[in-house]
Amino acid sequence: MTAPTDAVRAHALTLPSAELPAYVYDLAALREHAAFVRAALSERVELYYAAKANPEPEILATLSPYVHGYEVASGGELAHVGNAVPGRPLAFGGPGKTPAEIAAALDQGVARFHVESAHELRVLAELSARRAPDARVGILLRFNLPLPGGLLAGSTLAMGGRPTPFGLDPSEAQEVVGLLGGGVYPQLELRGVHAHLASGLEAAELVAVAESVVTWAEALAARHRIPLAEVNVGGGMNVDYTTAERRFDWAAYGTGISRLAAAHPDLTLRIEPGRALTAYCGWYVTEVLDVKYSHGQEFAVVRGGTHHLRTPATKGHDQPCTVLPVATWPHPWPRPAARQNEITLTGQLCTPKDLLARNVLAPGLRAGDRVAFGLAGAYAWNISHHDFLMHPRPGFHFLDPARN
Ligand SMILES: *Cc1c(COP(=O)(O)O)cnc(C)c1O
Repeated sequence: MTAPTDAVRAHALTLPSAELPAYVYDLAALREHAAFVRAALSERVELYYAAKANPEPEILATLSPYVHGYEVASGGELAHVGNAVPGRPLAFGGPGKTPAEIAAALDQGVARFHVESAHELRVLAELSARRAPDARVGILLRFNLPLPGGLLAGSTLAMGGRPTPFGLDPSEAQEVVGLLGGGVYPQLELRGVHAHLASGLEAAELVAVAESVVTWAEALAARHRIPLAEVNVGGGMNVDYTTAERRFDWAAYGTGISRLAAAHPDLTLRIEPGRALTAYCGWYVTEVLDVKYSHGQEFAVVRGGTHHLRTPATKGHDQPCTVLPVATWPHPWPRPAARQNEITLTGQLCTPKDLLARNVLAPGLRAGDRVAFGLAGAYAWNISHHDFLMHPRPGFHFLDPARN
């Protein structure tokens, strides 16, 4: 759902113009959504939140009762999430971990390392032996596995099933599992397999991916006679920016993944979604500065732009939005207003790429009206190029009736 909640709408209309643009998050809506996701999954499915989707401390803390832990993918996220939700289990993934990051993760006592290469495994082994030779370090081997037939085409961001820098190639399994056998690295405990293969898949497709990962992991374990305690099947649940009222079908996914867990009673199944947990709880709220006619088309220029909300530019979509009309106009001259039914919403940047939404149906849109862009709770502010053109930063508001 991308129309702002009542709380967000009211807040968006109360903020003075000078305090726009602003990111407005509805933490009550986030809590409700996270509880729904958790309830859709059986007890045996562990839920980690991939912090890179949105690492705002308020978001991390709000999710805390509903998640088993957090997936972090850099030394920065490791320190940040460790501070925001102290004591919660962390899984450390990502390609190109530096020795300093690995050492910091060992000091912090992360719950799981997602090992992405043989070299990384050796660095981890060396550093862990040196720092705390008696401590056990739980690891999952991340593999770039083939996606089940036809799914590569459907996903928007494929990390697996094609050449990528993520994880181990399946052909390296023998070598890496061999390194872990024979007691050479007694401090490293191989717990299982990790595979985050694609983002942007729907429920049935993702269940099929999870099934194929579990099947592959069990065959690996059988082949090498190693125990298999855990499989992390990653995140990637689709957020649909084009059909704005549709949410990822967590109920269907939960049923499928819970059935998979039930069929493998000795296995802990873990998922680590990012976007489909937090995208729905955030709005980027701004104000129309001007309405302009240009060569047959109309443009509304809003405060801010893609340097705050890069999502539509990076994904090439139109960010879903809702107009919040403002009745008052402080100037003695006529208010710039749209004459056509459709208008393109752009930001303040001096580049034609600063497009937030094209051909928005907003007849009569006026300067001074406000616009709330939805699905801005994930991969929005934190992926944006904030410093380009040196406009002021947006405000951040975390609405929480439970606390205010
Ligand atoms: C980004 C990422 C996720 C989360 O992906 P979403 O598409 O936001 O659900 C999970 N696991 C890994 C390893 C990732 O890199």
